[in-house]
Amino acid sequence: MASNNLNVTFNNSILRHNHYPKYLGITLDRTLSFNKHLTNLAAKLRTRNNILYKLAGSTWGADASTLRTSALSLVFSTAEYCASVWLNSPYVSKVDSVLNQTMRIISGSIKSTPIEWLPVLCHIEPPKIRRQQILVREFKKVSENLDLSIHQDIIRFNRLKSRNPTVKTAQQLVTNNFNGYEEWIASWQSRADPAWHPLLDPKNPPQGFNLPRKIWVRLNRIRTGHGRSGSALFKWGMRMSPECDCGAASQTMHHIAYECPTRRFSGTTSDFLHATARSIQWLNQLDIEL
Ligand SMILES: [Zn+2]
Repeated sequence: MASNNLNVTFNNSILRHNHYPKYLGITLDRTLSFNKHLTNLAAKLRTRNNILYKLAGSTWGADASTLRTSALSLVFSTAEYCASVWLNSPYVSKVDSVLNQTMRIISGSIKSTPIEWLPVLCHIEPPKIRRQQILVREFKKVSENLDLSIHQDIIRFNRLKSRNPTVKTAQQLVTNNFNGYEEWIASWQSRADPAWHPLLDPKNPPQGFNLPRKIWVRLNRIRTGHGRSGSALFKWGMRMSPECDCGAASQTMHHIAYECPTRRFSGTTSDFLHATARSIQWLNQLDIEL
C-alpha cells in the first residue's frame, strides 16, 4: 500500500513537471513517436541488465539456462509491455540495443559479435520478431472478440495521429501468414556461414546450454570468432602487438582454434557446433582467456 502511494506521487510529479501524458503506462509525446517512452524504458532495462551481470559475473556464474529464464522475466517482459502500440516507432532501436546487451550477457559474447548470433546462442527469438508475434496474437484476440473493452482503446489510439499505425502492420502480417520461426530461420540463414545453420533450432537451445559458465563463454567466442584474442586486444589498444606467442603475426580467434601450433584444436567447426566432449575438454584446458 505504502509503495503504491509512493508510485502515484512519483507519477503525478512527473506529469506536472514534464507534461508528458501517460495512458495505460505509455508515455505519450506530441508526435506519437514514443521517443520519451522508449528512452525511459531503455534506462529501466539497463538497470535490470545490471542484475543479470551480477548473476553471470561471479566466480560460480549462473548457467545459460538460468540466465535466459531470468532475462525473459526481468528484461524481456518489461521490454515488451504494450509493444503492440509502439513497435513501429523510429526509436525502437533504443530498446533493442539494451536487449542485445541482455543477450550478450547470456551468451558471453563481446560487443563486436554480429547481432544475428545473439538470439541463436540465447535461444530467444529476435526482439523484432517477438514484438510482431505479440502484435499478431493481440490483433487476432481483439478482432475475434468484439466485447473486449480494448476495442475502445484501439479506437482511442487510432484517433491519435500516427503515420505508421500498428493496426495496419498487424493486418499485413496476418494477411501474409506471418510465422515468427520461419522469419527467424530465414534471416539467420541469410547471414550466417552455412556451417553454423544447424545451430538454430527454434525448439531447442544450442548444444552446450547447460555447460559451466566459463566453458559456455569460451565455446561461444570460438563459435562466433569474436573474443579477446591478441589481434582484438591490439585493435582496442590494450596490447602492443597482435602477434601470438607462437610467433604468428596475428593471433585471431581462428588462429587460436585451428592454426596455432601451441594450442590448436584437433577437431573441426562441427565439434564446436555440437559441443562435443573433445571440444569441451580443449576449451577447458585452453591456457589463455578468450
Ligand atoms: Zn599461435
